[in-house]
Amino acid sequence: MTPPRQTNVIELAPCSPGAIAPMSLFDWFANRQKADAAAPEPPERDIADGLWTKCEACGVMAYTKDLKTNQMVCLNCEHHMRVWSDDRIEQLIDAGTWQPLDTGVAPVDPLGFRDRKAYRDRIKEAQAKSGLVDAVQTGQGEIHGESLVLGVMDFRFMGGSMGSVVGEKLTRAIEHATAQGVAVIILCASGGARMQEGMLSLMQMAKISGALERHREQGLLYIPVLTHPTTGGVTASFAMLGDLILAEPKAMIGFAGRRVIEQTLREKLPDNFQTAEYLLANGFVDAIVPRTQLKKTLSQLINMHHHPFSPAAASRSMGNNGAASDGAWEGDRPQPVNESLNGSAPLS
Ligand SMILES: [Zn+2]
Repeated sequence: MTPPRQTNVIELAPCSPGAIAPMSLFDWFANRQKADAAAPEPPERDIADGLWTKCEACGVMAYTKDLKTNQMVCLNCEHHMRVWSDDRIEQLIDAGTWQPLDTGVAPVDPLGFRDRKAYRDRIKEAQAKSGLVDAVQTGQGEIHGESLVLGVMDFRFMGGSMGSVVGEKLTRAIEHATAQGVAVIILCASGGARMQEGMLSLMQMAKISGALERHREQGLLYIPVLTHPTTGGVTASFAMLGDLILAEPKAMIGFAGRRVIEQTLREKLPDNFQTAEYLLANGFVDAIVPRTQLKKTLSQLINMHHHPFSPAAASRSMGNNGAASDGAWEGDRPQPVNESLNGSAPLS
């Protein structure tokens, strides 16, 4: 006699007899719920679609939208993820005030250089990938109503290397700021000089430094912000010439690589060598500013430089729309740099 057919049984994929026992629908749902609870990670398709982003420091997944709102700083461990020049401009500059400078300055291949690949092909490839002309964007804009000239290096483009275009665009931007009488901010991110342009890339260090000196002679402000990584010829020139030098937490900042220095000095270097925190402790950096506080900090610094003794101006920079009273001044007084950057955890 045939047993009554069980309707609540799912036959799993055909396999060798006895390998997997038939499972009741109830068990199947129970198992699925357990599996869902144990593995909160989103399906791969969501990751591929960019809905979720995994923090490379702590491994926690976050909605990309939430991360973007937090300027790509991990909501769990405050790791500063890499952002590109367009993001930086959006994060810092007041909406509708950005005016790009010298967008027509484009790289050429003056030496006809070729290593494994021709330099001109590398340029084309980097341009197609990044949508940029070269490794820096410059322009004039406002930060909380303060006009300034901003240069933003972009590590996507050949490792943010400094060739003739980076040098020329930054020099012109600084000269423009000098003529306008406004501050210059440069967000540095670079692997160093662009070797494919030989000494033409090294000359940019002197050219930019000269423009900065003429800017300084006019009593105007220059603040470099060192982001991860700032190395080579950029560190050896304009990254270290600021009136104030800011850095992002845990940014790698150095000239030569650790191995080269260890071999030259025949000495083991400390673990945190070439981090923003190490440089702060040793006097090379003035403050470490979390990305989420950078816009506010820059606007305060520019404002203090313009109006060093004006409480009303200080209050305006804090977003009080100029409605300064004695009370507003007390509440909104800009803090000395080190105090105003509490979240940055500088070394004590
Ligand atoms: Zn994290």
